[in-house]
Amino acid sequence: MRKGNRVRQFPSPPSQFLGRAPEFRRRLLRWFRRHGRDLPWRRTRDPYHVMVSEFMLQQTPVWRVGAYYHRFLERYPSIESLAAAPTGMVRESWDGLGYYRRAANLHRMAQEVVRDHAGVIPSDPAELRRLPGVGRYTAGAVASFAFERSAPAVDTNVARVLRRAFHPRAPAKALTSRLWATAAQIIPHRGKSAWAFNQGIMELGALICTARVAKCGECPVQSVCATGRRRLSP
Ligand code: SF4
Repeated sequence: MRKGNRVRQFPSPPSQFLGRAPEFRRRLLRWFRRHGRDLPWRRTRDPYHVMVSEFMLQQTPVWRVGAYYHRFLERYPSIESLAAAPTGMVRESWDGLGYYRRAANLHRMAQEVVRDHAGVIPSDPAELRRLPGVGRYTAGAVASFAFERSAPAVDTNVARVLRRAFHPRAPAKALTSRLWATAAQIIPHRGKSAWAFNQGIMELGALICTARVAKCGECPVQSVCATGRRRLSP
């Protein structure tokens, strides 16, 4: 058993490409250090701030969230202030972001954390998942981005990169669980590196390995990606 703050063990996924994972990690981390965007929620480890950003990012693109994130935190600077706010006011503070169910869930999450956890957001993904509006991805993201735990966080961007890099021909059946297993297997064990790995692979999916086009020629992991290597072949 390797040491570290790993939070969950997964069975080994059957991918012939996983031998390239160490080099994939190394290249991804180096690229992220140089090219990762300076986003406000990347400058903090405050669990409440990270949670707010993750709720906002669930259905809203990064470029739109920035202004709302600052405005919301100015209005509700602590989880206690959000928990104590009237429902209508929280909804009104969400104006412009849409998908108001997120605001209702965030509000309920804050109330539950204040009531049942003395205002302290848990760091364990399993505990996080019991909170309103917190699914598997958000639990992993908060554990990683706020607490620097070695927890996988597979959103649509990450799933796309993992599929193209490690499971290019995998059938759709049970693909999601394979991708989560792969993420758990290749994420670094050290918390700071795990933080950068999760941020980096999301960034790669957002900027280079996008849904519209895979820019393999510009990609830092092309030589170790199953899809990218095919494009390198003469
Ligand atoms: S090499 Fe291409 S397919 Fe592979 S991760 Fe990079 S952009 Fe995506």
